[in-house]
Amino acid sequence: MDIFQRSESEVRYYCRRFPAVFDKASGSYIFDEKGKGYLDFFSGAGALNYGHNNPYLINALTEYLASGGILHALDMSTRAKREFLTSFKEKILDKRSLPYKVMFCAPTGTNAVEAALKLAKKATGRQGIVAFSGSFHGMTAGSMAVTSGRAVRKDNVGNLSDVTFMPYPYGFNENFDTIEYMKRVFSDDHSGVDIPAAIIMETVQAEGGVIVAPTEWLKRLKKLCEEFGILLVCDDIQVGCYRTGSYFSFERAGIVPDMVALSKSLSGVGLPMSLLLLKEELDVWEPGEHNGTFRGNQLAFVAAKAAIDLAEKSDMEQTVENKSQIIKKYLTEEIASRDIAVRGIGMIYGIEFTEKGFAEKVSEECFKGKLIVECAGRDRSVLKLMPPLTSTPDELRTGLEIIRNSVKKLQNKYGR
Ligand code: PLP
Repeated sequence: MDIFQRSESEVRYYCRRFPAVFDKASGSYIFDEKGKGYLDFFSGAGALNYGHNNPYLINALTEYLASGGILHALDMSTRAKREFLTSFKEKILDKRSLPYKVMFCAPTGTNAVEAALKLAKKATGRQGIVAFSGSFHGMTAGSMAVTSGRAVRKDNVGNLSDVTFMPYPYGFNENFDTIEYMKRVFSDDHSGVDIPAAIIMETVQAEGGVIVAPTEWLKRLKKLCEEFGILLVCDDIQVGCYRTGSYFSFERAGIVPDMVALSKSLSGVGLPMSLLLLKEELDVWEPGEHNGTFRGNQLAFVAAKAAIDLAEKSDMEQTVENKSQIIKKYLTEEIASRDIAVRGIGMIYGIEFTEKGFAEKVSEECFKGKLIVECAGRDRSVLKLMPPLTSTPDELRTGLEIIRNSVKKLQNKYGR
């Protein structure tokens, strides 16, 4: 038994899915301690959109460390924070005419979700939240309450009762008009559902199995929120930072949510950082009313500023669009079939298998072929492809071939 088995809690997960001891990483590859390289189509669950140890980001970090820059500063003003805020405002927000103020949350995505829920309740004086089937928003009590998966919810002793789930356009609900339904529910004074403080949504449900909400649906959702004075919260934690092509995933719908939660790939090197963007009129916080010791991760600010510059230099939106076409073409021509559906946007794609358990077998087989790719969705029936946005076309093709070969091998093995 190794130290991990002997000492670490049974809760550990990815080490079981990908059983190796990793040591180094570079670009699209991670290496175990024996030097064996694995192509990474998981990108740290979306935290490494710019690849592992991107030299541009590492350079900014080493310079900062060598200069004796402050590392921990709570939410005090620092040079590193000023430089991040300036870049983020000028190059991300102002460029898109987005009117947000920035709230730094404690380090992880779920902290930004908690802040959004709390602020929505405070700003509107209402209690209810609407979330969607298929959603994932994190593992703290409030975030779990707006997450649909039974496995996540079952031991949540927090308050689940303020949350109403509505169907997301997928599966047997694909043709159900959720927006019209919500309109009727909110208009009916005997529906049993109060007008909520907020609706929290993902434009692409990543953990939900790569389900892409239609653009028109998002527009109608925003309109509905305006009609009833409901705040629209976009959880862009997994699919923000260019994952779908544009910096924010909601840009394709031309909507401006009232709040946006961002985290994972903000720093681009895996350093924890999360923030909540909020419209100015929603900034009703008292000083220190919502806080957290680690909401001023200076190294993350340094890397996040560098990541904004890097994306600008490399014309990230166009790059993602070009690579998206490579993935889409391959999946459609080489993998899709009667029993295998493919879908996605930008550089997040899902391969859904009808047979229960098959996606996990494919993921295991891919690992043997030196590719890291994770499963998601109902019954974990979707292989979720999230390569670094910086992957070369050759790396993409190599990874896609490993997936295709793994699928073929398993189909032959099980006589499909
Ligand atoms: N929201 C979404 C959409 C996510 O995908 C995740 C994590 O996967 C979270 C929230 C929670 O983020 P964290 O794990 O950093 O708390």
